[in-house]
Amino acid sequence: MKHIAFALLQCTSALSAQPIDLPSLFDPRALVKPITEMEGTLSDGLKATVYKIVVRSLPYDHETGPWAPQTIQDQGGYWEDTMDKKLYRVDGDYLKLLNSRGWSMFDADGTVHRTKDRLEFDKVARAELGGWTFEQAKQDGVTNSVIELPPQEQIVTIFLPKNPKPLPQLTMLRHATFSPRSGVGISTNGVRFFPPEPVHRITAFQNIAPLDPHGGHTGFGHEYHYHRAPSVLADDKSGKIVGFALDGFPVRGPTEANGKAPKNLDAVNGHDHDGLGYHYHASNSWPYFVSGFKGALGTATLGDADVCDATQQGGGGPGRRGGPGAAKGGAKGKGPPKGGPPPPRPFNPLLPDFP
Ligand SMILES: [Zn+2]
Ligand SMILES: [Zn+2]
Repeated sequence: MKHIAFALLQCTSALSAQPIDLPSLFDPRALVKPITEMEGTLSDGLKATVYKIVVRSLPYDHETGPWAPQTIQDQGGYWEDTMDKKLYRVDGDYLKLLNSRGWSMFDADGTVHRTKDRLEFDKVARAELGGWTFEQAKQDGVTNSVIELPPQEQIVTIFLPKNPKPLPQLTMLRHATFSPRSGVGISTNGVRFFPPEPVHRITAFQNIAPLDPHGGHTGFGHEYHYHRAPSVLADDKSGKIVGFALDGFPVRGPTEANGKAPKNLDAVNGHDHDGLGYHYHASNSWPYFVSGFKGALGTATLGDADVCDATQQGGGGPGRRGGPGAAKGGAKGKGPPKGGPPPPRPFNPLLPDFP
């Protein structure tokens, strides 16, 4: 009997779900132009109505930074330690902890080592994406530094299904194919949600790349993006929609509207209850937004684009060519040639690092 009541409830909840008016939820300051609808091709190869959302990739509802402290007296952003998995405020105490492991994160006068300009920042990208060894990076790159760069405006068009379509099976993140530009979704303030940071590739050079107090930082494409939802770091308990996953389903804050922890989440951190329709919840544990997707995916393209075809991912999304393992394997043995730039590699700032 209980079982039947539950089934009926599920049914009612699905039927009574109010359609979500996505355009009304976006911060207009983040938009280059009003959100429109058009026809696009989703990741399953089928045509569907998609929203065309052209954003600047910069938040207008909060400041960005800080990431690196200037000196060991100052406070920087947040970094999840790869050894003990705790989230630390990047300050003198934390940098001393790193130094106790043989790193060198500040000078004798307390000045913190950090990427001072775009040139240095780009060197880190080259070393990481080019699969350099620590010794190579020490000679010609950047090691023992807090990685940071003020973000630049990046106009990106993200296409999200208007009527999200559940697929017969969930797609786990490591099997999902998405554009290097799309990330896994977008916040209603126009900043994209990226997959988890490749922290082990960063710390391989004795560097860290902290997030600011809103969960964002600058990526190798010089754009601002989130690895954590601001609502998570701010301990928001409103349960409101904070953004949309790439399949068009909404992402809510870390709690339900009553402030309680979400229950009965599926393998991709989603569920359907109380007439809300299917939705994900952001969380403060790995992988922070969604662990995968319920529906067919939209896509994103650099610039103001007019074609949505999620089956064509130019840069090769994670998973397309065998995922991060393939990328790492392909990079083996390659380093910076003496006196010249490293060999060209497909540019993908988004290759996630799955443990
Ligand atoms: Zn990042
Ligand atoms: Zn919920």
